[in-house]
Amino acid sequence: MLWKSAIRNRKMIVTRFAPSPTGRLHLGHAFSALFAEAAVKKEGGTFLLRIEDIDSTRCRQEFTEGIIEDLSWLGIQWSPEVVIQSERLDLYAEALGRLREQGLLYPCFCTRKDIVREIAAAGGAPHDQADVVYPGICRDLSETLRRQRVAGGEAHAWRLDSRKAVERAGELNWTDLELGTQRVCMDRLGDVVLARKDIAGSYHLAVSVDDAGQGVTLVTRGEDLLGSTHVHRLLQGLLELPVPQWHHHRLLRDAEGKRFAKREEGMTLRAIRESGKSAADVRGDLGF
Ligand code: GLU
Repeated sequence: MLWKSAIRNRKMIVTRFAPSPTGRLHLGHAFSALFAEAAVKKEGGTFLLRIEDIDSTRCRQEFTEGIIEDLSWLGIQWSPEVVIQSERLDLYAEALGRLREQGLLYPCFCTRKDIVREIAAAGGAPHDQADVVYPGICRDLSETLRRQRVAGGEAHAWRLDSRKAVERAGELNWTDLELGTQRVCMDRLGDVVLARKDIAGSYHLAVSVDDAGQGVTLVTRGEDLLGSTHVHRLLQGLLELPVPQWHHHRLLRDAEGKRFAKREEGMTLRAIRESGKSAADVRGDLGF
């Protein structure tokens, strides 16, 4: 196992590219993958590929195949063992169980509408759904009511009680190679979902479990995930997982300053390839 031997050799870095197969890869993904590759080239080490496909409502096998095709074309070399998150749900369930035993989770029965309504009632106006901090509607339900509703088969997610969790974990820091030492602060994301209503896990839980399981020592990814890193570092503390370093990179933007998104068909690596550009052109354009 390549990554196991890399773990033994502490001097070598282990990094990963972890796309979600919800569309074709675009230039922003290429930048991210090449950024990780550059770290491995500089330091020596292992490049892992992980397919983050636990969201079965949005992920498709054809996009996983597209990822492999596009990265191969780009000339990226990854360790042969590709981790597929949808095959590892039992590991996430086990980690979830450990957090539940610590009394750090609570069932949340809210719909998206309930949450938006509650925030509006409190005078807030969430513009971007992704940035909504859960207002805590289910956090203070009595234990009896929780049990009744769960036993009654009511659909529920599991949320981290972030205040309790921070208290339990104590002061935690993490290091970004550019930003330096950061202190864990959950104000930005609050009581995140660790198991969705329809999936026995969530992005935050799966990433934390897998980065540890794969011996990742350097997480490189876009700066849009800075907030998530606070969650991941907290989970590492609570689950006693090894702590990597992070290197968040700037996001690639188009001429109008807009982020490359998967729906911009023209910017997919496939479309770029079909337009006659070579992988060397793309590497050059992106500064690698
Ligand atoms: N799967 C995530 C994405 O495609 C990236 C996760 C990570 O790098 O931690 O945005």
